[in-house]
Formats: sequence, structure tokens, C-alpha cells
Amino acid sequence: MTSAERLRAKGLRATRPRVVVLDVLDAARASHEHLPVAQIAERARVKLPTVSTQAVYDCLDALTGAGLARGIEPAGHPARFEARVGDNHHHLVCRDCGRTVDVDCTLGHAPCLAPSDTAGFAVEEAEVVFWGRCPECRSQRS
Ligand SMILES: [Zn+2]
Ligand SMILES: [Zn+2]
Repeated sequence: MTSAERLRAKGLRATRPRVVVLDVLDAARASHEHLPVAQIAERARVKLPTVSTQAVYDCLDALTGAGLARGIEPAGHPARFEARVGDNHHHLVCRDCGRTVDVDCTLGHAPCLAPSDTAGFAVEEAEVVFWGRCPECRSQRS
């Protein structure tokens, strides 16, 4: 399916900015990238020079709301977005540069982790962030 078809399948209007932003996220998915908004806007402008950063935010809101994209908000770093959705995967995040890498879900379905005490909650998902330092940042330190 094209990006436009995927948008329509979710009941969204396939506006040019939405199509372009979804294309950017799909391309980033192929290279396993998780992009901050500034970088998404930069890449979107290659195809659509007039798109504003605010418009990109609005597109990301619509895409995440429709389940076509996912946002990760590691504490202390700008949010990052990806098109890999619905597989309950987790992330490794570098404390220094914020680089974000996928970690497959151990079970393949949510929730793959159970709290020691659910406190009466019906647990639906677990979102795990493994914090550390990426190879590049580690080699810069030593
Ligand atoms: Zn790093
Ligand atoms: Zn991811």
C-alpha cells in the first residue's frame, strides 16, 4: 500500500504533508532510525520545501493517533518517531546522544513483562527503555 492508501485506510485525509511525513518515517524504518521532529521536518522539506515544523508536529499527532507511527519520549531527550508499530518492541537509548535502537519484544506480544504486583490493574502493555551509552559515545569517552 502507498502512504496515501494507508492514511485513507485509517480514515485520515491523505494530505500532501501527511504523505511526505509517513514516507520519511518509512524510509527511516528501513535504516532502523528513530527521528526527532527537527530531522523529520528537514527530510520532509526535501520533497515539500514549504512544510513548517508546526505542520510536521500536526502530521505526527495524526499519524500516532491513527496507529501509523509511534512516538518515544526518553526523559531528557526530544521525542523521536518511528513507523514500526504494533509489535510491542522496546528501545535502547544512549544517555549522551539520544540515539535510539530497537529491541525486539521477548514474547512477541504485549505485555511481555509483568509487574511483581499489578495492584489490581489489567496490564495491557510494557514499554521498556534500556539506558546506556552507544558505541560511538563510549569510544569518545575512552
Ligand atoms: Zn551516543
Ligand atoms: Zn523502535
